[in-house]
Amino acid sequence: MSVSVRDALRMAALYVVLSILWLVLAEVVLHSMTEDPLALTVGRQINVVVWVLLSALLIYVSRVRLLNFIGAGARLRGEDRERLRMAAAVFDCTLEGVLVTDRQGVIVHVNRAFMRITGYQQDEVIGQRPSKFKSGHHGAAFYQQIYAALTETGEWSGEIWNRRKSGEIYPQWQTIRAIRDDEGELSHYVAVFSDISAIKHSEQELAYLAHHDPLTDLPNRLLFTDRVQQALAAAQAKKRGCALLLLDLDHFQSINDGLGHTIGDQLLKLVGARLGEVVSSGVTLARLGGDEFGVLAEHCQDLGQAAKLAQRIIERMREPFLFEGHRLFISVSAGISLFPSDALSAEQLLRNADSALYKAKTNGRACYALYTEELTAHAQLRVETAGELRRALEQDELRAFYQPVHDLASGSQVGVEALVRWQHPQRGLVAPGEFIPIAERTGLIAEIDAWVLRQACLQMVRWQQEGRPLAFVAVNISSRLFGQHELYRQVADVLHETGLAPALLELEVTESAVMDDPEVALEQLHRLRELGVTLAIDDFGTGYSSLLRLKRMPVQKLKIDQGFVTGLPCDEDDVAIVRVIIALARSMGMQVHAEGIEQQEQASFLLQEQCQLGQGYWFGRPVAAKDLRWE
Ligand code: C2E
Ligand code: MG
Ligand code: MG
Repeated sequence: MSVSVRDALRMAALYVVLSILWLVLAEVVLHSMTEDPLALTVGRQINVVVWVLLSALLIYVSRVRLLNFIGAGARLRGEDRERLRMAAAVFDCTLEGVLVTDRQGVIVHVNRAFMRITGYQQDEVIGQRPSKFKSGHHGAAFYQQIYAALTETGEWSGEIWNRRKSGEIYPQWQTIRAIRDDEGELSHYVAVFSDISAIKHSEQELAYLAHHDPLTDLPNRLLFTDRVQQALAAAQAKKRGCALLLLDLDHFQSINDGLGHTIGDQLLKLVGARLGEVVSSGVTLARLGGDEFGVLAEHCQDLGQAAKLAQRIIERMREPFLFEGHRLFISVSAGISLFPSDALSAEQLLRNADSALYKAKTNGRACYALYTEELTAHAQLRVETAGELRRALEQDELRAFYQPVHDLASGSQVGVEALVRWQHPQRGLVAPGEFIPIAERTGLIAEIDAWVLRQACLQMVRWQQEGRPLAFVAVNISSRLFGQHELYRQVADVLHETGLAPALLELEVTESAVMDDPEVALEQLHRLRELGVTLAIDDFGTGYSSLLRLKRMPVQKLKIDQGFVTGLPCDEDDVAIVRVIIALARSMGMQVHAEGIEQQEQASFLLQEQCQLGQGYWFGRPVAAKDLRWE
């Protein structure tokens, strides 16, 4: 019941009670004053007249108040209606999307902007829940935090990603408010939101422009420096290296001066695009300004890799640039600086690369230079070597040399070790130390070792046929190959193909190769042993072998590294180590073979210590098969 009706009823009841009271009181007072029937009648009439007059006055006052009240009510309803009309118009015309749910979160109303922004019609969403628009961009914790804010403060506003009917996800700036009725009970939630994808887009565009070069679309110096800093932090944490290359186009100014800036700009654009083709993913390429470009190679393990990248860039730049009827040639110079060997900070790395670039320019351009001079020559040689090694294999430039192995007691030659050489057309005979590590890194070692193994087996068969008194030919197996499962099959194939008796072949594996992964090594050695070949551990003493593990290996020979033989018989440490190795080998039933014997005293000492076999310049250097001397 409304308040006004209740008041009116209360007033009427009061009026009735007062009227009865008045009439009863008046009758009592009248009787107490007179017994005369005429006086009583007159008194009653006066009472009634007074009651009628008072009633009339009361009714008049009430009527005025009631009319006032009714008039005010009518006025109030009119204002409300007006206000509601205005609210509805605003609700419908506003650019912000509006969504109203009941207290259970079921959508009860949406406005026109909502439909425009989301692509949904009213009847597609009424009765549904706002979770229908979830983008998957936020986790459960995000929605929990909104709910918590609404229950605590009754309001939440923030950025939220939702999904349009088309499936597109977009950012909204949204304010949600909990609405309560007069009793303070939660009745509705109202969400007002605007589509901020355009703002986001322009923000991104601005950020992109601030960090990119508009001509080539590559990162600019600001972003590049930032990336270098991040890369160094990551490299430091993961204990790996990275390389920074600064590139500068040679004589670019003459193109700008001669052909104009428009052509110059075109060329820079093409250079940027070509550089992008040369570098792999994981490498950041940037235009640092003018004709200077930066390359950041993360995961760059060594200078060889960095130099190779620089060389690749220089070579690709040599190809002509064709556009608008022009055929332009331009070369590039590169400066390389390495983390952590050259510098530990981004600024220092950039400075070092810059001085290396200056060096490359003064060295005649179209080349690269490393920050450290000696490294430049070294790296150049390595890059060239890697390129030439394949040709060496194809053009049969490798040679197998053989070094005699003597029985120390009898002095007679009992075997040979095959050692590879490279007959380089310009550099002459190249020692394996200069190309085996490169071959190992490029993977060419597999072909090299297979070639040497085949040559050595063929040669041994020939010696056998010639009746040479040789008990074995030893072949080195790279640690890179030793880990491969098919090694034993390769060896079996070569033995089968060449017809060499397995007992005449000895395979040398370095101590580190065996100890890097002893379980794999054990399996590999057993397989090789099953073929009937002899197994030797080369360069023994340089690794940190576990004697227990060594005991389990099916190895027949230990080759004492030449580093321990050099100091014999005077150096006390060498003497002690050699004695231990000999004792160890004998205790495990292995033969001992000393390498690098250059003097007779070394051979005598080793014999005295009961070392059985010896190899070294004292007995003979590695030579081609035809030059081997036979006593
Ligand atoms: P290694 O297997 O320990 O070979 C012995 C090295 O010592 C040979 O060097 C040999 O010439 C050298 N040498 C022999 N006697 C003396 C001496 O009295 N004094 C001195 N100072 N040195 C001596 P080389 O031929 O330069 O080979 C070096 C290493 O290259 C070899 O060490 C071996 O690890 C590797 N290597 C050689 N040929 C091959 C091959 O065909 N495949 C693989 N994977 N590695 C090979
Ligand atoms: Mg060897
Ligand atoms: Mg050795």
